[in-house]
Amino acid sequence: MSTQSRHPGEPAWDYIVVGAGSAGCVIASRLSENPDHSVLLIESGPDIRRYPSTRIPIGYARTFYDEEVNWKFFTEPESGLNGRNSYWPRGRVLGGSGSINAMVFCRGQQRDYDEWEALGADGWGWSDVLEYFKKIECVPFSGNPLRGNRGPITITTTEKAAHNLNQYFLDGCGELGFAVNPDYNADTREGVGYYQTNINRGFRVSSYTAYLDKARKRKNLTILTNADVLRLTFEGKRCTGVLYRHNDSLRYSGVSREVVLSAGAIGSPVILQRSGVGPANYLRSLGIDIMEDLPQVGWNLQDHLGISYYYQGKIKTLNDQFNSVLGRMQAGLAYFSMRRGPVSTSINQSGGFVRSSPKRDYPNIQLYLQALSYLDSPPGTRPMVKLDRFSGFSIGTSQCRPTSRGRVFITSGDLSVPPVIKPNYLSTQHDLDESLESVRLIRQIASTESMRSVIECEIRPGESLQNDDELLEDYRNRSDTVFHPSCTCRIGKKPNDSVVNPRLLVHGLDNVRVIDASVFPVLPSGNINATAIMVGEKGSDLLLADAC
Ligand SMILES: Cc1cc2nc3c(=O)[nH]c(=O)nc-3n(C[C@H](O)[C@H](O)[C@H](O)COP(=O)(O)OP(=O)(O)OC[C@H]3O[C@@H](n4cnc5c(N)ncnc54)[C@H](O)[C@@H]3O)c2cc1C
Repeated sequence: MSTQSRHPGEPAWDYIVVGAGSAGCVIASRLSENPDHSVLLIESGPDIRRYPSTRIPIGYARTFYDEEVNWKFFTEPESGLNGRNSYWPRGRVLGGSGSINAMVFCRGQQRDYDEWEALGADGWGWSDVLEYFKKIECVPFSGNPLRGNRGPITITTTEKAAHNLNQYFLDGCGELGFAVNPDYNADTREGVGYYQTNINRGFRVSSYTAYLDKARKRKNLTILTNADVLRLTFEGKRCTGVLYRHNDSLRYSGVSREVVLSAGAIGSPVILQRSGVGPANYLRSLGIDIMEDLPQVGWNLQDHLGISYYYQGKIKTLNDQFNSVLGRMQAGLAYFSMRRGPVSTSINQSGGFVRSSPKRDYPNIQLYLQALSYLDSPPGTRPMVKLDRFSGFSIGTSQCRPTSRGRVFITSGDLSVPPVIKPNYLSTQHDLDESLESVRLIRQIASTESMRSVIECEIRPGESLQNDDELLEDYRNRSDTVFHPSCTCRIGKKPNDSVVNPRLLVHGLDNVRVIDASVFPVLPSGNINATAIMVGEKGSDLLLADAC
């Protein structure tokens, strides 16, 4: 076995960070600000500089299925989805999922974080995390004091680049009494509007571009790409290093201070389980030596599940533009000459957070308008490249706070065996009720005067489906992940109901932290990348404070 170390003869790094994703890039960057810290960042995927599709917003269509930068997981057949397997793209490249996501920027609701604290995540209430949300962002369009204006992640709105269908959608929402919220990341999430995105001058901003890219020239930071971490090594309860596969051989790097797992909601619990940290009886049955019996590792998996209703438009949509040579040329010209137009922005251009019924006491569902459709794309292809030939568009919805809980677990200690993913979607009455309410609300929006002026007909599921049973059956047949798996190493006080303590240290171990979306105690409302980056910033502060 060969040893990767900072300099020949030096056995250990001060810190090893596993996973260069949304959180990991922040941590490696913050740790290496101090030139006295030697930091090794290990990433399974390749260097991002070879993949321009991760920088141009419309490159989302390409990276969605690109196995060079994407783990391309599948869940087990889900009974809640009538036995379907859900396709789960996850970023496998510097920047992680933040390099392939749809770039909608959302902080979650204040009440989500207050619930984190109530569940035992001391120091993670809204008033605590707000300063970190402000720290990460630079929001030039909002003078609201709750927003940050000096952080590395530049946020812009889609408004200038948005297709005009979005305005019909917002007007339709207005007819139903859903007010426009000019800054849904400030005082309240409630309302509708143009989405905020981490896009600046026509390019994706991620924690790779905003943090790691600037840090990578530091001499005390080494970034190792195409290296898959197998497991951690221990002496007693102290982690001594990391075993990983690189260039077809198994290698070892030693650590003197701490190992940080930032491998995401799938990767982090899987590495812990392979290291013997997890449900002891189960891991023993796989022949894995137990380091710490922690039954919750991989449990408590949460995700947003969503569905889209598709319409044939009376006006031209992005389908028409991208299906015509002239339209593509215009889009390309607008992008390359001015960084404008549909190539420069997210596919999710407007939406918001609303109540699916008056009886709900907080905005419990999220809405998305996409001015395009890709119904005819067979699964496994790149859907947006093959847009439908008609003027299609969709209104999508997902629950903010589903109560279904799943799990992620290994079936072997072998690196080449993918984990089993069981989200357990739609397994609670609460989730079924809200899902039904949300699709009924889509129908209401589509029936407004504003939307009727642009809708020819509903294509899918189609107006023949009307009663609750039919709509729920359609939900089970067509709903899918909104790509927000999290909570598999949740923060809490006790080892029997959580994995890390509020300082993000794994219960029972001396020097291993998890810092990524897996530590969320519950899934925040809306898109979660901003929360993962916030966790990276706050986690770095905790790590550095404990190092003093
Ligand atoms: C298609 C898609 C669309 C999305 N759209 C949005 C959106 O519009 N807005 C939003 O807010 N969120 C969105 N998300 C979700 C968001 O991007 C993620 O929740 C967030 O990036 C998670 O951050 P993380 O740091 O926890 O994990 P990740 O960013 O996934 O990082 C984990 C990193 O660890 C690496 N890794 C894993 N295992 C190992 C191992 N064994 N060895 C070495 N390295 C390893 C991975 O390769 C990866 O780089 C989307 C996600 C996807 C996939």
